[in-house]
Amino acid sequence: MADKKVFEKTKYFIIDMDGTFYLGNRLIEGADGFIRSLQASGRDFRFFTNNSSNNVKVCCDKLEKMGFPVSEDKIIISSHVTIDYLQKNHAGERVYLLGNERLTADFEAAGINLVNENPDVVVLGFDTTLTYEKISKAANYLAAGVTYIASHPDLNCPMADGFMPDTGSMIEMFAASTGKRPKVMGKPMEETVNYVTDLLGCTREEIAFVGDRLATDIAIGYNHGIPSALVLSGVTSIEEYNASDIRASVVVDDLAALADYL
Ligand SMILES: [Mg+2]
Repeated sequence: MADKKVFEKTKYFIIDMDGTFYLGNRLIEGADGFIRSLQASGRDFRFFTNNSSNNVKVCCDKLEKMGFPVSEDKIIISSHVTIDYLQKNHAGERVYLLGNERLTADFEAAGINLVNENPDVVVLGFDTTLTYEKISKAANYLAAGVTYIASHPDLNCPMADGFMPDTGSMIEMFAASTGKRPKVMGKPMEETVNYVTDLLGCTREEIAFVGDRLATDIAIGYNHGIPSALVLSGVTSIEEYNASDIRASVVVDDLAALADYL
């Protein structure tokens, strides 16, 4: 019998997408049923993805194609946390952004002062349009001591036919070149906990994180005293979990199995 006390205080499940809700272009079996079950139990949810190469519209379109339409307010991305952090801590400062056209549009819409020369801040996002020219430019700014922020730490991004090096790998590249390391946003960082609780108007006791990746989805709960559920439907095997120091509140095969804990 599943221990239902773990999520007794949970009002919002903060659910990862890739490897948790869907794999490639198909919903994981029972994932949509889990959402219906949590809503039936009087709770709500948000999706949270670290993937800052996507915007809210891309996420909504993808879910709709899989037969699970959601409103845009249900999607939170590491880029939202990054923009919020910039607005609160570097308001009006000149930002050199490494990001694709979607991330750039989100920064512009938020009124971030994007520049190509003489920045006060370099922001490293998941730039799927990264060029050697952008890398060189950013490296020179970093070496000169410009403030440095990254949207999330994931090393690789799963793809239908393998994976793509993600922002965390670019962090290592810039560290090798310049010796500089960024202040990181997204999961598992505290800025993300604060952003989510402020956005939802709730306390830390009232949220729980669900996901397939230990270093991000589960570590954000483990590091901040927030319940978490590891689903084994994505990148983490039970052997990898058993060998890790990062502890989840519960470990289940998939979201369908998590419904037992509601
Ligand atoms: Mg995932």
